[in-house]
Amino acid sequence: MSKILRVNMSDRTAVYEDVPEKYKLLGGRGLTSTMISDEVDPTCHPLGPNNKLVFAPGIVTGTTAPTSGRVSVGGKSPLTGGIKEANAGTGWSQLVGRLGVKAIVVEGSPKESEWWGLHVTKNGAEFFPAGDYVGKGLSEIFPDLFERFGEKVGIAAIGVAGEHRMGMAGVCFDDIDNRPSRYAGRGGLGAVMGSKGLKLIVVDGAGAPGVEIANKELFDQGRKKLANALRSHDLTKPGGALNSYGTAVLVNVINEAGAFPTRNFREGRFEDAAKISGETMAEYCKTRGGVGTMGHPCHPGCIIQCSNVIPNPDGTEMASCIEYETTWALGANCGIGDLDVVGKLTAMCNDIGLDTIEAGDVIAVAMEAGLAEFGDGDAAIGLLEEVRKGTPLGRILGQGTGAAAKVLGVVRSPDVKGQGMPAYEPRAIKGIGMTYAISTMGADHTSGYTIAPEILACGGDLDQFDVDKADVVRNFQYATAFIDTSGHCLFIAFAILDIVDGFEGLVEECSGVLGTNWTMDDVGRIGKEILDRELAFNRAAGFTKADDRIPEFMKYEKLPPHNVVWDVPDETLDAVFRA
Ligand code: SF4
Repeated sequence: MSKILRVNMSDRTAVYEDVPEKYKLLGGRGLTSTMISDEVDPTCHPLGPNNKLVFAPGIVTGTTAPTSGRVSVGGKSPLTGGIKEANAGTGWSQLVGRLGVKAIVVEGSPKESEWWGLHVTKNGAEFFPAGDYVGKGLSEIFPDLFERFGEKVGIAAIGVAGEHRMGMAGVCFDDIDNRPSRYAGRGGLGAVMGSKGLKLIVVDGAGAPGVEIANKELFDQGRKKLANALRSHDLTKPGGALNSYGTAVLVNVINEAGAFPTRNFREGRFEDAAKISGETMAEYCKTRGGVGTMGHPCHPGCIIQCSNVIPNPDGTEMASCIEYETTWALGANCGIGDLDVVGKLTAMCNDIGLDTIEAGDVIAVAMEAGLAEFGDGDAAIGLLEEVRKGTPLGRILGQGTGAAAKVLGVVRSPDVKGQGMPAYEPRAIKGIGMTYAISTMGADHTSGYTIAPEILACGGDLDQFDVDKADVVRNFQYATAFIDTSGHCLFIAFAILDIVDGFEGLVEECSGVLGTNWTMDDVGRIGKEILDRELAFNRAAGFTKADDRIPEFMKYEKLPPHNVVWDVPDETLDAVFRA
């Protein structure tokens, strides 16, 4: 029988509750967004005692479903002021699911400035003082924690960025090698965890009963269908594009499309794109050897295995993982075409506890403000050191793209609702721009990855410049909310968009676990229900249509090489969810 673990940081209690009927068919984002909508006042201060932080494994997380070790982390975002779900792939989530814990809800805040850890086992949850881990890098404290609690536990933690309550602080989880590298990065949820005085949650799955599966036959049928689809699609199969080159296989593709934001979204092509691409990462692994690995899984049971460990020239570890968004944010967006520098910056972000997208956007905004030259890697490292030390400048940068741009007087701030844009230029790919504009999460490509049909000819083949995409944008957001609820990595979308059997398998897996009779038709309904709750929360928090807009400079500044501006009519944006 699964339970909800409620952790109150005001009186330091941790109690298990029965799962209310209304939450029984939910998991992942569906559960975090519903609980936040039900329990959090949308007008509360995100860092105050009335905000909550919810950790929820997906519906199938902890089972043998392929590529399903995701955890959703939800709360009111200090970065956007709206509802937030950020998710990560990690064994931590699989352990939580196997312990029969449907969600961990963290609420209240300590009266004194103090730091605590939480140790969750099959016997219950206990607090322990965590002051000794404060002020240190995550790469220093993770080995200590694994030595103390055992190699097989999972760890969720915040770095010094979360301790300083920064808007670009993520929540960090262990990867398959117990590295602090998998992030629920976006929206500053690490700052919410910091505001609760909760430094880390250690989960021990020893003796866990496992995930209850109501209809094993149906679950197995779905699991096989999805696994077959993942193993046969060119993007997701072993030896396929993502497995061989990681998500950074997109660098050359998006650059070629003229949509690779460069030097704070001034250009759509970067002359040094190839030097920071997935192909170059694979070359580093091959020629430098040592620990270098492409095709690395972030958690057990992933078929796609798009992660990587990038080596230094001497074969020691430089960084893991350098994703597409990371190499873009810390590379092209800052004008840096040196993968070794990108690797150093990535390792720093992982150590400090930062969202790499927001970090790259903020560094570029600082460069725009004249604090450093575009392309100056040493200066970029220096700016991240300011963040690590929590200097006044570091604190300003740490508050994220929109906030830092305001303080620094930068007009060209590439953010929506305060959150920095990811690695696709809205002026050159209209559907993803629409997604950034209307997402409940601020500028977020994972809200609805329309890049699949707009650039990759996956699940359709759309003209990147066509502005008539309201239906596509809406449906991608609904389907994505379902995938985020299921507990699967969003990258399964490539396979299930093209292989119907795989899509059916996804639904059957979920129905198998829950004992429902869902069909593919239910995916849109369930996704819509989740989006409707998130939209209602944001409206109650004070958001209006005026917040669903792309930054003004993109309307009058032409983006080379296509010399395009943002020209999607506001009415089109407003119509997406009206339908
Ligand atoms: S596809 Fe990549 S990001 Fe997704 S779960 Fe697998 S390794 Fe992690």
